[in-house]
Amino acid sequence: MRDLFHTPKVGKDPVFLCATNLIFLVKTGMACSCVIDWQQIYKPMRDPQFNNSYASLSDRFYQRALPETFPNPTLIVLNTALAENMDLDVDWLNTTQGLGMLSGQDMPEGADPIAMAYAGHQFGGWSPQLGDGRALLLGEIIAKDGTRLDVQLKGSGRTPFSRGGDGKAGLGPVLREYIVSEAMHAYGVPTTRALAACLTGATILRQEGEIAGAILTRVAQSHIRIGTFQYFYARGDVEALAELSDYVINRHFPDVKSAKNPYDKMLKTIIARQAKLIAKWMGLGFIHGVMNTDNMQIVGETIDYGPCAFMDVFHLQKTFSSIDRRGRYAWAAQPSMALWNLSQLAQALSPILDTDEKQSAKIAQSALETFHSIFQTEMNAVFRAKFGFTHMDMDLDRFLKMTFETMTEHEIDFTLFFRRLTKIANGHDEDAFLHMFNDPYSGKEWLSLWKKEIKREEGNVVAGQDLAVMQFANPIFIPRNHRIEECIQNALGGDFTLFHRLVQTLKMPFTEQDENTDLEMAPRQEEVVQHTFCGT
Ligand code: AMP
Ligand code: MG
Repeated sequence: MRDLFHTPKVGKDPVFLCATNLIFLVKTGMACSCVIDWQQIYKPMRDPQFNNSYASLSDRFYQRALPETFPNPTLIVLNTALAENMDLDVDWLNTTQGLGMLSGQDMPEGADPIAMAYAGHQFGGWSPQLGDGRALLLGEIIAKDGTRLDVQLKGSGRTPFSRGGDGKAGLGPVLREYIVSEAMHAYGVPTTRALAACLTGATILRQEGEIAGAILTRVAQSHIRIGTFQYFYARGDVEALAELSDYVINRHFPDVKSAKNPYDKMLKTIIARQAKLIAKWMGLGFIHGVMNTDNMQIVGETIDYGPCAFMDVFHLQKTFSSIDRRGRYAWAAQPSMALWNLSQLAQALSPILDTDEKQSAKIAQSALETFHSIFQTEMNAVFRAKFGFTHMDMDLDRFLKMTFETMTEHEIDFTLFFRRLTKIANGHDEDAFLHMFNDPYSGKEWLSLWKKEIKREEGNVVAGQDLAVMQFANPIFIPRNHRIEECIQNALGGDFTLFHRLVQTLKMPFTEQDENTDLEMAPRQEEVVQHTFCGT
C-alpha cells in the first residue's frame, strides 16, 4: 500500500533529530550515523502478505465478492498479541489503511476476497447450499511459527450466498464471539481467534430493532467445515471431493500422506480432533449451541460462536440457544451430536474412501467407531484433572454420575464448584464450598467421598504438580453469560469499558485477580440469562 513509512512518534521527529544531531556533529565532530538509528526512525511499514491457496482451487469452491461500503468504520479492539504472532505489523494495522482492511473498505494488495461454498445439516434438516453469506475470506497469512492462517471478515456485507440475509453482523454477536473465542484460547481449547472488531458506522435491522453493525476479523487454521465436503457430495462431484481432500491433507495433515489410504487416515484424524475438542468443551461447561455440520470445522477448532454460553447452574440438559427448543445441542448431548456430524462427513467422503461401495462403508464405519474411546479417554483426563485425582484405581464414571446428580439436586454453579474445590485442595477451608449446597450435610458427604478418592497420605491437600494440573483444569474466570449481556448492552449505549475489562481479565483466567472478583460470581436470580440468540 501507499504509506510505506511509519509516522514518526512525537519527540522522535526525524527533522528535529537531524537538526539536533547536526548541532551535536558540529560541537563534537562525531558522525551523525553514530547517533541516529535510522532503522528506528524510518521503520518501514509492512502491509500484510497474503497467500491465496484456497482461492487457487477450482472456482466451484467459492464465489468472488467485495465487502460493502460503510460510512464511518471505527476500531473497537485490536488483538495485538495475536497480530504479532501472525507476524502482522501492529503499527500498520493501527493506520487508516489497517482499519480499511479490518472494516473491508480498503483491500491491501494481495488480498483476494472470496465467499466459501458449503452446505450443512441445520438442526438435523438438510440445506444443500449455505456458504459464506456474511463473511469473506481475504486470504491466508503465514504466522511466525509457519502456520498458514485464514483471515476472514465476518459481517462485511452481502455475498452470492447471502440468500435473504443482509450479510451484516450486529455489535452484540461480534463482541460475544470476540470475548468467548479469546477466552477459549486462554483455556487451551482449539479455537478460531479474533484479530479485531470494528463498528461499521451503519445500523442494521434485527428483531430487537435498529442496532449498530460491526465486523469481526476472524483468524482460523482454515474455514473448511464438514458442510464443505457435504456440498460436493450432494452434487455428486467426486472430483471436487478429491481436490478438497488433497488440499486438506496438504495444508493440515501432511503426515497422513504416507498412509495406505490417506483419505481414511484423514477421516480418522478429523474424528480424533473433534472427539478431543468436545471433551474440552465438556470440562468447561461450554455449550456451543449450534453444532450444525456447517459449524464444525475439520481441523478441530471451535468455530461459529453464535448462541454459545458457559453454564452457570449445572444441568445435563442445559441449553441456551433460543432456537434449540428440543435440546438437540444440550451440554450432555454434544458428544453424540459430534458423532452424528462426523457420520455425515464419513458419508460425504464415501465416494473416495474406496471405489467399492461396501468396502467404503466398512472403512467409514470403523473410523467412526474410534470416536467413543478417544472421547472417553480425553473426557476422563479432563475430569480427573478437575477433581485433582491422580490414582487410576477408581470408578470415575460412577463418581462423575454421582457428582452430576448432586450438582443438579443442589443447583450448583459448575465453575464455582470446581473453583472452590480447588481452593480446598490448596489448603483453604471448606465453608465457601459447603455454602453451595442446600444443606451442609450433603456437601460434607460429597467431600468425604472426594477425599476418599484423592487418597492423600499428607491430608486432603493436593500439592505440587498435581495442584497445578487441577488449577489449570478449573478456571477462576469464565465469560459469564450475564456479564456478556451486560457488556453488550453497555456497548450498544457506547460504553465499551466492561467489554475491555472482560477481554483483559479472561486473558489470564487461571490467575486470581483481586480487582476482578466480581467477574467470578454466578448471576443473582434476577441476572440469570436463559436464552442466547444466533448471530444472524
Ligand atoms: P450460522 O447459523 O450463523 O452458522 O449461519 C448459517 C448460514 O446462514 C450461513 O450460510 C451464513 O452465512 C448464513 N447467514 C447468517 N447470517 C446471515 C446474514 N445476516 N446474512 C446473510 N447470510 C447469513
Ligand atoms: Mg455458521
